[in-house]
Amino acid sequence: MSPSPFLPPSTIGILGGGQLGRMLALEARRAGYQVAIFTDERPGCPAGQMATFEFNASYDDKSALARFLSKVDVVTAEFENIPDVCLQAVEAEKPLRPSRKAIHTTQHREREKLFLREKGIACAEFRIIENLAQLDKAISELGRPCVIKTAAFGYDGKGQCKVTADTDLATAWQAFEGHHAVVEQWVPFVCEISVVGARSVDGRMAVHGVIENEHAHHILDLSISPARVNSAIQDQALDLWEAVATGLDYVGTMAVEMFVTADGKVLVNEIAPRPHNSGHYSIDACLSNQFQQQLRAICGLTLGDPSQHTPAVMINLLGDVWPEPQVHPDWSPVLNHPRAKLHLYDKAEARAKRKMGHINVLGDSIEEALESAQQIKRALGMI
Ligand code: AMP
Repeated sequence: MSPSPFLPPSTIGILGGGQLGRMLALEARRAGYQVAIFTDERPGCPAGQMATFEFNASYDDKSALARFLSKVDVVTAEFENIPDVCLQAVEAEKPLRPSRKAIHTTQHREREKLFLREKGIACAEFRIIENLAQLDKAISELGRPCVIKTAAFGYDGKGQCKVTADTDLATAWQAFEGHHAVVEQWVPFVCEISVVGARSVDGRMAVHGVIENEHAHHILDLSISPARVNSAIQDQALDLWEAVATGLDYVGTMAVEMFVTADGKVLVNEIAPRPHNSGHYSIDACLSNQFQQQLRAICGLTLGDPSQHTPAVMINLLGDVWPEPQVHPDWSPVLNHPRAKLHLYDKAEARAKRKMGHINVLGDSIEEALESAQQIKRALGMI
């Protein structure tokens, strides 16, 4: 029998202080839960602003963690790069959902790739390397182009280097010296997609559907949902998401980013053990959004209906759109649009490439939503 669910006014503990924690905290508080944030950011961080309690300390600060743990009923994470000592300390005291094992596997590319290989889940061919000789061997086996990625703490294209026909391997390796890295075959993809969904304590799954993603400088720029891909691609993508969620014995909201190749194959690129930027459209376009699903899953409740009711395009807002670090652009083109929804994360200062917010644009069709999104981007000086 499943343990009893956590109901309001239980306290949800969130590791991490960013926008994903903020949006979970908003949903939790709306439903009458209390929220405790544990973050190494300063007080008043995006998630802390919405929390009932905020703990600001290093992730390995045992006494601060003990105080946090004494306040909470269940714990989740809003980002994956959390030191393992912290995850272990949490899991020893309170239910941690997703588990330490799921976070530990997906926070590190080497472990993530080995998990995919072990489960037979389709992804780009890769080798794990730790020196120049192994890089040389990997490239001779995989061919060029390839991409070298740091095993630990990489995101949004950070810690990556593309190896093309004329790349000198010794020079390329310099940035990775002393670290483990993954060398991956370059995938000449026709589009990038993702699937965001949730898995409950009793193993039931509910996904929002397939999302089409456009990146600029390795950072998500635009998400289009539903994705403009055929049903064979959709089926593969949904099957891959399920295989990952089941393989990790996952509890919570999880995203899987994927490549679609010219010959109609879908390959897993990355797993995010949390809600995802590409799933933000669900806040305004789905019956239950990715944060509500996360809340339900971690509390041991039945998942909500994830269906999408309206076509949507999400525009990511990076700090580059702000004229100055503390001066906002004129938001009236968004706020005056009848089908656009502005979401800002209230970060203290805008910096280039920093995720500051997003806009969900709805339409009767994807074409209509895309047209409105283009108009809004133009009005904000983004194009
Ligand atoms: P990642 O940080 O691994 O998600 O990579 C960031 C972006 O780099 C992806 O969204 C792709 O646009 C691109 N990329 C990463 N790996 C590959 C690959 N093996 N082949 C082609 N493009 C890639």
